[in-house]
Amino acid sequence: IAELSARNEDTLVPVLNLTGTVLHTNLGRAYLPEKALEAVTRIARGASNLEFQLDSGIRGDRDEHIASLLTELTGAESVTVVNNNAAAVLLCLNTLAEGREVCISRGELVEIGGSFRIPEVMAKSGCNLAEIGATNRTHRDDYVKAINEQTGLLLKVHTSNYEIRGFTNEVSYDDVAALSREYSVPFMADLGSGTLVNLEDYGLAHEPTVQEVLSAGADVVTFSGDKLLGGPQAGIIAGRKELIDRIKQNPLKRALRVDKMTMAALTEVLKLYLNPEKLIEELPTLAFLSRSREDIASTAEAMLPVFESALQGIANVAVIDSQSQIGSGALPLDQLPSCAIEITPIDGSDSALRKLVSAFRNLPTPMIGRMQDGRLLFDLRTVTNVDAVATQLKNLGGQ
Ligand SMILES: *Cc1c(COP(=O)(O)O)cnc(C)c1O
Repeated sequence: IAELSARNEDTLVPVLNLTGTVLHTNLGRAYLPEKALEAVTRIARGASNLEFQLDSGIRGDRDEHIASLLTELTGAESVTVVNNNAAAVLLCLNTLAEGREVCISRGELVEIGGSFRIPEVMAKSGCNLAEIGATNRTHRDDYVKAINEQTGLLLKVHTSNYEIRGFTNEVSYDDVAALSREYSVPFMADLGSGTLVNLEDYGLAHEPTVQEVLSAGADVVTFSGDKLLGGPQAGIIAGRKELIDRIKQNPLKRALRVDKMTMAALTEVLKLYLNPEKLIEELPTLAFLSRSREDIASTAEAMLPVFESALQGIANVAVIDSQSQIGSGALPLDQLPSCAIEITPIDGSDSALRKLVSAFRNLPTPMIGRMQDGRLLFDLRTVTNVDAVATQLKNLGGQ
């Protein structure tokens, strides 16, 4: 009986992300805004004009649904979109520099986890890595020395999940762009997270925006749809029309294209950016990231009694200051002041802590926190619905 009923159980279920990492890759990254969810249901339920021009009645291009929005928002001449940013990088490298050398600073040979490493993606795309400079310092002259008749592309990769500090030097987007013009070699920038807004306006540290890097002179910029942009998983490629046209004609583009659900969600997310004053209300990612410690603290205080009664005799519960982070590699050293529910097993044992963590993980809607120094912490930055958590906690006794 257990085996038969297990067959009907979903393996993919919603969970409560209480880790303090807002864009948690293992927990599905960005929460989609309501309008994007509605669009997905509307479009996925039946047929749509995904690749059909309603005015002329001829075959269309699925990219047209996001093209004018994205060119307006980024200032790019042209855009295209694929399944994720890893695909975007692969496709761009393969199109722009197959069989040729790609110059990149040794300080930017990023690994982002899940086996995405620049040297390996470079090899799979058929390009030859020409690493230049040193890990901590790369100069304009290193590019000049490396550029030869085999050079197909200058690449900068945003070091999204680490920082090199101390005796360092990096060649700026402006300076690489100037070199690219001087030597007539295209310049591609992989921004990783990539944002369309100045994060300083939301009390966060600055991340290079897509607009800035394009206006500095990058020919092609790639970034994720489900990191700071706050949308569905996608990889966006923005840049010069002539290069984007070549990218779109690559047969790999067909293999990496997005489906109608992604298109529907991405369109709605981009539309929110047309109205910056309301963005923070409508885009969950930005709302979470800019949420004040005081606001999170008031949620924590409201939740405390619920946790206390659920864990009576099992664990001590308190509200403590905590640090959340953006996640997905954006501003990796940036800590956002936050508040957490701290749960410490009464007998202080490691096994009691593990049992508790597993009980929370086995709730109908699993609650995922983080373990730290013998305690379980639930960071409440991404919780706004206190009742939903309270309902879950009622199930804890049954574990
Ligand atoms: C995250 C990231 C990628 C990959 O993006 P996905 O959308 O996860 O495929 C590529 N490059 C950099 C620098 C990144 O931070």
